[in-house]
Amino acid sequence: MINRGRAEVAVIGGGPRGTSVVERMIAHLGQDGAAGVQLVLHVIDPFEPGPGHVWRADQSRLFLMNTPSRFPTVVPVGDAAEALPTSPVHLSFDQWRERAARGTVAGLPTDDAAEARSLGAEDFPSRRLYGRYLAWVFRQLVEHAGEAVVVHHSAEVLAARRHGEGWVLEFDDGAILPVDAVVLAAGHLPAKLTPEQEKLQDAATWVRTAPLECSSFSTSSTPSNPGPAMSGAPTSRGSSS
Ligand SMILES: Cc1cc2nc3c(=O)[nH]c(=O)nc-3n(C[C@H](O)[C@H](O)[C@H](O)COP(=O)(O)OP(=O)(O)OC[C@H]3O[C@@H](n4cnc5c(N)ncnc54)[C@H](O)[C@@H]3O)c2cc1C
Repeated sequence: MINRGRAEVAVIGGGPRGTSVVERMIAHLGQDGAAGVQLVLHVIDPFEPGPGHVWRADQSRLFLMNTPSRFPTVVPVGDAAEALPTSPVHLSFDQWRERAARGTVAGLPTDDAAEARSLGAEDFPSRRLYGRYLAWVFRQLVEHAGEAVVVHHSAEVLAARRHGEGWVLEFDDGAILPVDAVVLAAGHLPAKLTPEQEKLQDAATWVRTAPLECSSFSTSSTPSNPGPAMSGAPTSRGSSS
C-alpha cells in the first residue's frame, strides 16, 4: 500500500467516530513519524465534519444531550490520555465549554456563547452546542495535522469498490476517489422497514395528517359519558383529503 511516498485514507462519515479516527491517526503520526510518507486523510460526509448529521448546528436548542456536560469528549483526556500518543487537541467538551463561556473560542455565535455561560458541569447541553465543540475539534485537527493533510469532501459515498490493492470510491456528485484504505464511520444507517413496518408507518403518518372534526367531541369526560365517536375521521386512507 504505502509504496509511492503518499498514503491516501478515506474516512466515510465525519461524525464523532470519523473525527476520532482522524484525531488518532494524526496523534500516531506525530509519535511514530511517517517514514517519508505523506498521509492524506479524506473525510467524506455531506454534513459539516465534526458534528456530522446528528450534532448539526441548525437544530433547535431544545434538543438536549442525554449526558451532562462533564462526561462527553471526542479526544482522550485525563488519565486515559497519558498512555496514548499525544493529541493535537486536548479539550473535553466541558473544558471547551468553560473557554466558550469566557469568550475565548473564536467565531462562536453569541447565542451559543450564552448557552455555554448558562451551563454548569452537571447541566445537559443542547446537541447543537455539542456540535459546535465537535466542529471546533475538527478545525483544530485540520490546523494541527502536522505531517498529515485532512481534506473534507461534502458528498455521500455511493459505492466503494476494490481496485488493485486499494479502493475506488464513488460519490453522489459523480466524482471518483482512488484511495489506499477505507474506514467506515457511517453511524446508524436508516433502517430498512419490513412491509408490515411500512404499513404501520403509513398509518401513523395518516393519523398525524388526517383532519379531525373537533366539534363532535363532548366537553364532558365523566365515565358515564363514553365520549363521541370520531365522526369527523375518515374511514379509509383515500377519504382523508
Ligand atoms: C437524534 C439522535 C440523538 C442522539 N443523542 C445522543 C446523546 O445525547 N448522547 C449520546 O451519547 N449519543 C447520542 N446519540 C447517538 C449518536 O449516534 C452518537 O452519539 C454519535 O453521534 C455516533 O457517532 P458516529 O460518528 O458513529 O455516527 P454519526 O454521528 O451518525 O455520524 C455518521 C456520519 O456518517 C455520515 N454518513 C453516513 N453514510 C454516509 C455515506 N454513505 N457517505 C458519506 N457520509 C455518510 C452521516 O452523514 C453522519 O454525519 C444520538 C443519536 C441520534 C440519532
